[in-house]
Amino acid sequence: MRVARFAGDDDPQFGVIGEEDGVPTIAVLKGDPLYAGFELVGQKIPLDDVRLLAPVIPRSKVVCVGKNYVKHAAEMGGEVPTEPLIFLKPNTSVIGPGEPIFYPDQTENLHFEGELAVVIGRICKDISVEDASKVIFGYTIANDVTARDLQAKDGQWARAKGFDTFCPLGPWIETNLDPAALRVTTELNGDPRQDGSTSDMVFSVADVIAYVSSFMTLLPGDVILTGTPDGVGPMLPGDSVSITVEGIGTLTNQVVSAHD
Ligand code: MG
Repeated sequence: MRVARFAGDDDPQFGVIGEEDGVPTIAVLKGDPLYAGFELVGQKIPLDDVRLLAPVIPRSKVVCVGKNYVKHAAEMGGEVPTEPLIFLKPNTSVIGPGEPIFYPDQTENLHFEGELAVVIGRICKDISVEDASKVIFGYTIANDVTARDLQAKDGQWARAKGFDTFCPLGPWIETNLDPAALRVTTELNGDPRQDGSTSDMVFSVADVIAYVSSFMTLLPGDVILTGTPDGVGPMLPGDSVSITVEGIGTLTNQVVSAHD
């Protein structure tokens, strides 16, 4: 099932993506399914008639794994960590599909990182690898936008990873997916830049949930970015970046000068 969040008359609404007479539709839900379950209100809207938003605004945090693919760790000039390397992005960095990524004045080297993202479904702590799938609401796509120069300069990554608009999420959440071997690709202006598989992750989704929840309570709506394959590279104002994860869809955003 694909769960989307979209701009309603007043507040954002949620719905389940389907099809009617060959036309993609959204069946509107009563409330946020993370908290209210899946109660349909009986209204269907053509998908083309709605503006999709980030499918979730993390209630407390976006947790990220660094260097979780061997070839990406190598291109960053380092070894694969022996334990998951964890950092945070603020929930204020989240934007939705089609929303602009603002290129900050403080960087001269803004990179894309296409990633599989996990949406947590319930409050949890100290989850075992075996039980990890029980706390997952679903999966979406993320761009872990990174000011590469600031990442090296600052040591701490809060600024390099945490500007407003540095966490595009979407286009929806797929609730029924096996994350073990999904192709992850990134295109910049239509040119292929990244092409990896989640089967190459050093630490699996279950490993990461077990590790993170061993020291940090996870809340419903928290999002975990699982790391990027190799092939990361720079984006400039005017560029269009599209990330595709097999079984989910494609997340596209444009890079915009902060002065536009
Ligand atoms: Mg990343």
